[in-house]
Amino acid sequence: MRSFAALRILRRIAVLPIALAFGTALVGATASGQPVDGIPCDATEGSVFHIHPHLTVLARAKPVEIPADVGRPVTSSCLYWLHTHTSDGLIHIEAPKFRTFTLGEFFDVWGQPLGATAVASARVRRGDLHAYVNGKPYKGDPRKIELSQHTDITLEAGAPYTKPVPFTDWRGQ
Ligand SMILES: [Zn+2]
Repeated sequence: MRSFAALRILRRIAVLPIALAFGTALVGATASGQPVDGIPCDATEGSVFHIHPHLTVLARAKPVEIPADVGRPVTSSCLYWLHTHTSDGLIHIEAPKFRTFTLGEFFDVWGQPLGATAVASARVRRGDLHAYVNGKPYKGDPRKIELSQHTDITLEAGAPYTKPVPFTDWRGQ
């Protein structure tokens, strides 16, 4: 029986690199190099379109970390047009051409859900996700929030709700 259990563990270890090698989209996993929503993962940072929005996520008033290196897969040496370098919520859009980018696309590259009832690890009842764009309430689909230079987005998943704190620390970006 012991050897059978060991075999199962070995099988699990063997499957993981295969899944990564084929770029399988694992549910809830950060994108690993395959195009996401038509956004490729390029070898170098695009220099034509370069903007920085900011995202704050609060789950019942507690900050949810937006990790560093979203869109910079460790398994391939490439960089998505949407990515992060730091864990302070600053999003980098560095693309070789102009196009519209949305918050939903950022969450897709991150591999996290965004919708009326889910924001990353936070789950809420319908109507309990409050979104703000540049300090103003945003009533539409949060996935469709457009990302522009210095767009300041706050998502509050569940009470207690607070007035969004404007992000100002752009550090010349
Ligand atoms: Zn940048």
